[in-house]
Amino acid sequence: MSREYFEEGARVGILTPEPLDRVLDYRAPEGGCWLGAFVEVPLGPRKVLGVVWGEGAGDFDAGKLRAVNRVLEAAPMRGELRSFLEKAGAYTLTPLSQMLRLATRVPGLSDPPSMRKIYRLGQGEPDRMTDARQRVIDTLVEYGGLGFTLSELSSLAGVSTSVIKGLAKQGVVEEADTPRDAPYLPLDPDLPSKELTEDQASAAEALRTGMAARRYGTTLLKGVTGSGKTEVYLEAVAECLRQGRQALVLLPEIALTSEFLTRVEARFGAKPAEWHSGVTMTERRRAWKMVGQGAAQLVVGARSALFLPYRDLGLIVVDEEHDSSYKQEEGALYNARDMAVLRASLNDAQVVLASATPSLESWANAEAGKYARLDLTARFGEAVLPEMAAIDMRTQDLPAQSWLSPRLTGEVAKRIQNGEQALLFLNRRGYAPVTLCRACGAQVGCDHCDARMVEHRFQKRLVCHQCGETKPLPEVCPSCGVEGKMAAVGPGVERVAEEAARAFPDAKLAILSSDLFGSARALKAQIEEIAQGDTDIIIGTQLVAKGHNFPRLTLVGVVDADLGLQGGDLRAAERTFQLMRQVAGRAGRAEKRGVALLQTFQPDHPVIRAILSGDEEGFWRAEAAEREQAGMPPYGRLAGIIISAPDAASAFDLGNHLARHDDALRAVGAVVYGPAPAPIARVRGRHRVRLLVKAPKGVALQGAIRRWTDGVKLPTNLRLSVDIDPQSFY
Ligand code: ADP
Ligand code: ZN
Repeated sequence: MSREYFEEGARVGILTPEPLDRVLDYRAPEGGCWLGAFVEVPLGPRKVLGVVWGEGAGDFDAGKLRAVNRVLEAAPMRGELRSFLEKAGAYTLTPLSQMLRLATRVPGLSDPPSMRKIYRLGQGEPDRMTDARQRVIDTLVEYGGLGFTLSELSSLAGVSTSVIKGLAKQGVVEEADTPRDAPYLPLDPDLPSKELTEDQASAAEALRTGMAARRYGTTLLKGVTGSGKTEVYLEAVAECLRQGRQALVLLPEIALTSEFLTRVEARFGAKPAEWHSGVTMTERRRAWKMVGQGAAQLVVGARSALFLPYRDLGLIVVDEEHDSSYKQEEGALYNARDMAVLRASLNDAQVVLASATPSLESWANAEAGKYARLDLTARFGEAVLPEMAAIDMRTQDLPAQSWLSPRLTGEVAKRIQNGEQALLFLNRRGYAPVTLCRACGAQVGCDHCDARMVEHRFQKRLVCHQCGETKPLPEVCPSCGVEGKMAAVGPGVERVAEEAARAFPDAKLAILSSDLFGSARALKAQIEEIAQGDTDIIIGTQLVAKGHNFPRLTLVGVVDADLGLQGGDLRAAERTFQLMRQVAGRAGRAEKRGVALLQTFQPDHPVIRAILSGDEEGFWRAEAAEREQAGMPPYGRLAGIIISAPDAASAFDLGNHLARHDDALRAVGAVVYGPAPAPIARVRGRHRVRLLVKAPKGVALQGAIRRWTDGVKLPTNLRLSVDIDPQSFY
């Protein structure tokens, strides 16, 4: 047992989020401090946040030790979270200080709890009654003892604030101070749920039994879109709440939260806490504090919600678990799905991974018996999976600069006539992926990256999808100086929309692409309008693949089904399979059976065939066999090493040095490939070089990589980051 409390003056080790990569020694402050306490410490001339991480190391002269300034008024970080940060940091090779930053991303953490004034019914009698005064009293009586802020009460009662202040002077209304960060309204797990189908009920029962064991366990909940996965996992949440433990539901898209909040409110009678980038600073602080006090029973959030200071986290649901946005690709490189499993295992908690199209990793873990698996086979109600067919583009006659085959436009026309909706799907934002000079053949690239600039016609600019840099469309070729020869090559969603508008001049079109909306709210409004409204044709990127409900949608046309197959990426086949299945799942969610048509030049490609035949298990078995054969994840291990530098030569020098001095890797049976320029070799002005480490499964890869990279001294200006279990290869 480590020490839990440190007397004043005792030597304590403090972890700070500063990039120091070590725990620093301090003296415990007056009154002592608890293990895990949030504190403020002097660091050079500054005062910084810290957490009491354990006993001091004792290698620093006791006489020179500085004292902790003060202990902050937040519940100490629990052992479970400290150990999660340590283990997650060790797994992803992320410095502990950086892990602590993930757990303290909240404004005002070091401020004392702030108070605000509320007004409620007092004992006094008014010297005289007026209409306005009566309305204030009536309002307070009506809400039975609830207190309101001055502005809330004045608007509820429809009186000026001076009326309330006047009543307060006479004690008719009582002023009181309450903490600004209010607890969340309690959720009631015993409100009635929807009546579950037999399938759903037995899955819900299995999850409840898992919860009841109060031990760690992970369940893959697989079911086609619309089969009721959400209904089912809400029952696991209900059981978790009954046990008095906290639950976390991770969603891949902020745009999905509002529909989910409404469902939680319908099921449990109140809204949960939210934690994602769309939440205001005030709400963020409230959520962080209330989660820590156990006054938030359920949190809905993005991957960073995994690092909140839960009192007792009993359940983590990862919805759309295959979604690539769960992988954080900058800073600490972690996969929220895997970290959810880690955190749950440290707190005897359950994990539910929900998906219509699980990742191969989760599928394989279920096959191997590490995860339980539950399948929901039927769609709820009448809705059935769409009929799927390929349009062989080799046989379709297309004029230049068009991408919609006659067969597809014919089908769209029929839907419009019937008052139904059609979706044209192309996973590429913008107008055209390439802008080319017809005089010299040069393509417009980004000045900072190696990427081509993508034309966005709505913004009237070229945009780099790698670094976000934009520039105006050139009239004159930047390479040869010839004027008026710049041409857009290839389609993005905006261009497909243009073609659709030409083909269907009377139809109402809507484009769904993440860059066209200034805010999550605007996007949400657009999605709702499409779901209910009179849109005939939706043109969208992968944004539409994610769980939205369009009841009138009966046709999905995939403009370029081959797009994901050419990446040369380990997961190209898997991603294409998932995306196509999901987009197809948008069609016919209501009563009418939908149709999905895939435009492809390779109708015989195994992935396209598996999508069309709907043989999911067959697809996974084939893909798993290929990966196993090649020793690739999840049957082998990979780590990416990314070196970046202002000039390519020094990045390559370091890469070559590492590749030559690979004893530490070879000692565990790992091999290193590279260095090679990263597929996008320059990002934000820095040159990037990659190495890929491949190892058999079961090898202690992190330790070997650490020994390997610790051996080199990084010149200033060079950065090296390690990506354990890389998802993308950029
Ligand atoms: P998934 O999460 O698998 O996509 P949902 O849980 O969102 O599926 O269910 C799809 C739709 O069907 C939702 O509107 C949901 O409320 C409804 N639904 C699912 N199961 C039931 C049920 N047993 N009773 C009533 N409505 C249901
Ligand atoms: Zn760029």
